[in-house]
Amino acid sequence: MPFSVARYKSKGRHMESINPQSGKVIQTYSSATDEALQTRLRAAADEFQHWKLNSFPERAKLMHAAATLLRARKAELAELMADEMGKVIRDGIAEIEKCAGCCDYYAEHAHQFLQKQSIASDAQESYVAYDPLGVILAVMPWNFPFWQVFRFAAPALMAGNVGVLKHASNVSGCALAIEAVFKDAGFPAHAFSTLLVESSRVEALIRNPLVSAVTLTGSTPAGRSVAGIAGSELKKCVLELGGSDAYIVLEDADLDLAVDLCVKSRLINAGQSCIAAKRFIVVRPLRAEFEARYAEKFKAIRYGDPRDPATDIGPMARTDLRDQVHAQVMKSVEQGARLLVGGVVPDGPGAYYPATVLAGVKPGMTAFDDEIFGPVAAIIEADDEEHAIALANQSVFGLGAALFTRDRDKADRLARRIEAGCVFINSFVKSDPRLPFGGIKQSGFGRELSWFGIQEFVNIKTVYHAAAAKPAHAVE
Ligand code: NAP
Repeated sequence: MPFSVARYKSKGRHMESINPQSGKVIQTYSSATDEALQTRLRAAADEFQHWKLNSFPERAKLMHAAATLLRARKAELAELMADEMGKVIRDGIAEIEKCAGCCDYYAEHAHQFLQKQSIASDAQESYVAYDPLGVILAVMPWNFPFWQVFRFAAPALMAGNVGVLKHASNVSGCALAIEAVFKDAGFPAHAFSTLLVESSRVEALIRNPLVSAVTLTGSTPAGRSVAGIAGSELKKCVLELGGSDAYIVLEDADLDLAVDLCVKSRLINAGQSCIAAKRFIVVRPLRAEFEARYAEKFKAIRYGDPRDPATDIGPMARTDLRDQVHAQVMKSVEQGARLLVGGVVPDGPGAYYPATVLAGVKPGMTAFDDEIFGPVAAIIEADDEEHAIALANQSVFGLGAALFTRDRDKADRLARRIEAGCVFINSFVKSDPRLPFGGIKQSGFGRELSWFGIQEFVNIKTVYHAAAAKPAHAVE
């Protein structure tokens, strides 16, 4: 079933979707008026009073229907992502399938995750119940325009909350397509809705008394701002922010595997992923060989049309983001990093940036200290295992990390010393509905996905029956 965005087209304050391949405006969307926003929030809050009373099987039926619709629409939704932010079609299809899997996962498990839990105490009976909170505002980024939203929406809706989405301004078409998926799957009209607004109006949304809590996936500065506002309103927030994941290659690593996965992980989504590998910390005996093999593989990477099956990486999402990445590369070179591959902005239209390798990266350089959100790898030499761990932890971020070693005990020991929300061993970092996802330090707080994710936007309520209470009929 096709979706329609026509009703949102009008004049006034607006947002533009620009094709990053051609630079052409695809669609202009007017920003909602304050009045329209208030009407939508009111409708969402009213819907919450009904939605929260539905049984888990009723909600699950609709969530499975959303999964079915996503699968049916995967080709057109992947096209939309290619148009709005340059994602390669095969990756777009995989992203939609992952969203569908997440909907099915929470449809199947939410009931069990949120079952009342008896806890022994001095009561005749005491237990914990999980009640939904209300209208949850989701502020989301453009890099995985469907996945970031569904990994919030599937658990939040299954828990009995309703969702309102403020998506990134460059992917309004995706935002409306998500709203259409829920609506067409049979969800009540205001169980999930999209608010077309600029980021300057997020503060008013958080402060609106109809909004109960907020989740943001995005940059650390945006997270800092949202956390400050939510804190001043005493509203719960979850933050999924930036990262500079360290991939540590130890002397006993399988080097073929390490090089292969380190290359793949750095280039996911043209390098625009919070959990893409960003810093490659290689112990001295392996560094030169790792560097040579890594650079060879990066030289072979083809950037181009996201619709062409031969393309490895599409354009970046916007030219301003590409220019920022290039400035970070140039700054790192000025600071002493060696440019091995790439590093030149191609002539012609499109927000393209080539796969780029920087070697000799050290603390104090931009490529070490900051997040580079594009296809740029930073190779760092460590004296030994201890030094590698110290370098990995020498970051303001703490999202993910990977370790390459054949020694399982050592991997377990070192994993516990790495300051990050997850550590993957002999693998690249990925999200999975069954496993909790989130960071520490400036990568944010709170968790998404799994049992932990569905706990974020519920009231964990204690219910206590006094031991002495007599049934009403027994009272004389
Ligand atoms: P961004 O500029 O922070 O934008 C993300 C969202 O926040 C957009 O909807 C944006 O709206 C809004 N926003 C921006 N500034 C805001 C502010 N001051 N107050 C309230 N809302 C604000 O981030 P991005 O450049 O789109 O995405 C890249 C960043 O996201 C990277 O740092 C990446 O690592 C991080 N990220 C983290 C995760 C994770 O799970 N940890 C996942 C994906 C991405 P507008 O578009 O209207 O400005």
